[in-house]
Amino acid sequence: MTRTDIPADIEHRVRIAARHRCGYCLSPQHLVMARLEIEHIIPLARGGSNDETNLWLACPLCNGHKSAKVDAVDPASSVRVPLFNPRTQLWHEHFAWTDDGLRIEGLTPIGRATVVALHLSDDPDAVIVRSYWVLAGWHPPTD
Ligand SMILES: [Zn+2]
Repeated sequence: MTRTDIPADIEHRVRIAARHRCGYCLSPQHLVMARLEIEHIIPLARGGSNDETNLWLACPLCNGHKSAKVDAVDPASSVRVPLFNPRTQLWHEHFAWTDDGLRIEGLTPIGRATVVALHLSDDPDAVIVRSYWVLAGWHPPTD
């Protein structure tokens, strides 16, 4: 199966369930200059399916960094843990914004490992864009 096999009604439901924002960096569709992508929580390359329960939204940056990863090493404990699952886990339990709103900090082993694997805190393009969102009063999200 490929991503083009995802029926339009399922894609629509995933976009609504994800509230039209990236499950990892929370960038909203209306502020991203590209269509948020339907991502496979367990990548197809790792045996994941096109089942709705395996799909979420990701911005092109996060999806590109995630690629076929399913786990990563928590830099604090050096233990390999699963990546954050935006469908079944709560963002604010695993991540927080830095006080300036520019970077994402991991609060748990899963959060810290995901921050490293998806470059949630050190992608220079994302940090620059977020700095303008902060100036505009659009960021960071409060929910
Ligand atoms: Zn993202």
